[in-house]
Amino acid sequence: MLKEIFAGVGLAVFVFLTLLGYNVFPVVVLMALLVTIFLLVNRNGVGLGGNAKKLEYTADADFTFDMIGGQNSAIQELQEALKFVLEREKIKVLGIRPIKGILLTGPPGTGKTLLAKAAANFTDSVFIAVSGSEFIQMYAGVGAERVRSLFKNARDKAQKGKKSSAIIFIDEIDILGGKRGTNVSHHEYDQTLNQLLVEMDGLKSDSATQILVLGATNRMEALDEALLRPGRFDRMVKVDLPDKEGRLAILKIHTRNKPLAEDADLARIAHETFGFSGAHLESLANEAAIFALREKEPAINQKHLKEAIDKVIMGEKSDRKPSPADLNRVAVHEAGHALISELLNPNSVSTVTIRPRGNALGYVRHNPEDESYLQTQKALENQIKIALAGALAEELVLGDRSTGATGDYAQTMNLVKHMIAAGMSGLGVVELEQLPQERVHEASSIILKDLEQQTRRLLEENLVLFKEIVDILADKEYITGEKLRECLAGLKAAS
Ligand code: ATP
Repeated sequence: MLKEIFAGVGLAVFVFLTLLGYNVFPVVVLMALLVTIFLLVNRNGVGLGGNAKKLEYTADADFTFDMIGGQNSAIQELQEALKFVLEREKIKVLGIRPIKGILLTGPPGTGKTLLAKAAANFTDSVFIAVSGSEFIQMYAGVGAERVRSLFKNARDKAQKGKKSSAIIFIDEIDILGGKRGTNVSHHEYDQTLNQLLVEMDGLKSDSATQILVLGATNRMEALDEALLRPGRFDRMVKVDLPDKEGRLAILKIHTRNKPLAEDADLARIAHETFGFSGAHLESLANEAAIFALREKEPAINQKHLKEAIDKVIMGEKSDRKPSPADLNRVAVHEAGHALISELLNPNSVSTVTIRPRGNALGYVRHNPEDESYLQTQKALENQIKIALAGALAEELVLGDRSTGATGDYAQTMNLVKHMIAAGMSGLGVVELEQLPQERVHEASSIILKDLEQQTRRLLEENLVLFKEIVDILADKEYITGEKLRECLAGLKAAS
């Protein structure tokens, strides 16, 4: 409102002076210049007073820990640390220094932001969330000023809201708190980090508002050691990808507000979504509901949930229409992957399809049987054979390979390097980084040649079944793991 009054008065003065015959042109140019600078500075969210208000948001007041699934140990660890905020008086009497910072570390989408929001609720604190990237600007000193105003803002908000504590959540803290001296424009980065350290050092247990800083990162190794020093971020809470039970808990949370059909089996979906984060699972539940809507179904059924897994992994079905020759090649390629996968790891195939989705013309989705954190040599070799089987099937049936296998080779080379690094090659125990490229290449070739030969043999021995799978795929564009296993059992019974 004030701005409009000033603009109106300014305009009136200009018109008046012009009518009196004054030359107002230089003043107009100067004003335009000043306004441009003001807008530019503000566009970067700086605000002339270094006000970081635009970057912050406040959490839902009623977000609690039981709305977060699959993170029981992270929640427990975090709650233990938060008792320091809740039991302030006891802590003061015993002379214990307050906790100033807690780091939440883990892959993206696992619920770090949710944990911070729930922590604010748990401790009845004011909650301010910002992202590390928003502090880094091209103007020297702006980041540091923002850090200062962030802490001041937290205190002011707590006082206004009559709260005794405030939680500042800094997402992507590695951007703001990366190792000093490593950034190109490191002076600005270093100043910002220094200011954060100064603010944290200044936090006292007897101040009216207790401030706790929660930082989130998935690049722990990038953090400056000064940040991790006792008295700063000296508590660490690991927020990992959820296991099967965790995934089920998250799926239940995100389907609470959605109607589920009787055949919807969330436990089965949790089983099939190894490697999914909470964010993936939330998206899966949402996509399944969209599929139900598209099919005009009153509730989400198992087919919608399964299709949603494909959607989350591979992206939306694409409108690309491959030529009949390409379709046949894709069917041969995917049948190769699927057959070898099922032969080496029975029950491992969930679905095979040659309907284009995302960037893929076709794909095989696997069922992870048991979640395992260690991989044996045999398991790695089997994975390589499955990855190579697509190209080898094309070669066997169509006489040559195609560019469709490029992604498979990248995966194969990663697995081979993994084997060499784990001492599973003819080179014995080695340090991969120290090995000359030629030796890595030689060792890889030996492993690959042998595995290629074994895979080719397996395909040749099962050619009848292989052709049956290709025919089904060419006809229906889709084959479930169950149907694949039926074919396999039928063939075994007949022979
Ligand atoms: P990033 O590191 O990318 O910032 P993050 O770990 O902070 O990710 P969140 O922002 O907390 O992840 O999660 C994103 C969304 O994913 C949430 O809004 C929620 O819908 C869902 N989600 C993630 N983890 C969980 C979980 N453990 N329980 C329930 N929902 C979850």
